[in-house]
Amino acid sequence: MSTEESGPSGQADPMTARAPDTGAPPPPSTADLPAALELPQPTALVGVAGTPPAGAPWPTVAPPARLAPGIADRLRDRRPALFLDYDGTLTPIVSRPELARLAPETREAVRALATAGHPVAVVSGRDLDDVRALVNLPQLVYAGSHGFDIAGPGGLRLQHPEALRLLPHLDGAQDLLAARLAGVPGVQIERKRFSLAVHYRQVAPGNIPALEQAVAEAAHPGLRRAGGKMVFELQPALDWHKGRAVEWVLDSLDLNRPQILPLYLGDDLTDEDAFRALQGRGLGIVVRDQPPRPTAADYALADPAEVRLFLEALARVWPG
Ligand SMILES: [Mg+2]
Repeated sequence: MSTEESGPSGQADPMTARAPDTGAPPPPSTADLPAALELPQPTALVGVAGTPPAGAPWPTVAPPARLAPGIADRLRDRRPALFLDYDGTLTPIVSRPELARLAPETREAVRALATAGHPVAVVSGRDLDDVRALVNLPQLVYAGSHGFDIAGPGGLRLQHPEALRLLPHLDGAQDLLAARLAGVPGVQIERKRFSLAVHYRQVAPGNIPALEQAVAEAAHPGLRRAGGKMVFELQPALDWHKGRAVEWVLDSLDLNRPQILPLYLGDDLTDEDAFRALQGRGLGIVVRDQPPRPTAADYALADPAEVRLFLEALARVWPG
């Protein structure tokens, strides 16, 4: 990378100078970076940036035991802003959503990054209060209900105004589905402030098509159907999703700056909106899933255990 990237007015090179208006820590010594980012176990972090080749829908897994050179290179002169999905990314997927507890080691790695002054946001389909309680780190930004409901330190707050107007339709759909699905064994209806989730992980496969039909029939025109892992969802039919939420947080916290590299880690289809939002200005890291599917992410991790290793590697580079 060129060392001639000072600003047009002769500002100091952000590689070597602290950003004047943030109070953020200086970037790590570039000499120390590759070693510091080395992972302790021969775990496969990562892959090849760019669009996956035909027939290989996941980013190709590349050298083990070391952070992908592409990530290390891009962090030499910038500091990270982290956006983290919760289920399937910070925690393994479990049979009942309320059992998805954050491992203490993972919480510590996230805490260390936030304490070091790096912006960290958790972006989840869960209800805002739910995901905030599960992570239990008050210094983070939380985006719940797929980004319709955002809160963070310093009074950061968004409740999508148009979505608020559609809440009565979600209430109606909730009543309809509660009555209609009462006799279906294993079904779990979860009302979040801005969405309604029908979990079917414990529903017999033969009952799932009828479940999907019931959700479709409960959808008011102001609602849209969405889905994730073993869940049908109804949400406000608005052009808003995890990608928009990430953009809103970046704008609101003045993070759309050359010194910042936004990183988004997620595992599910809803995270693809965020991967697309960061194309060209950040990095998407997908937590691989079965069956393989196309992704807009730049890199891949195998599972939440590798996510923890990745976060610990970042925290070692920028200790609090
Ligand atoms: Mg997820």
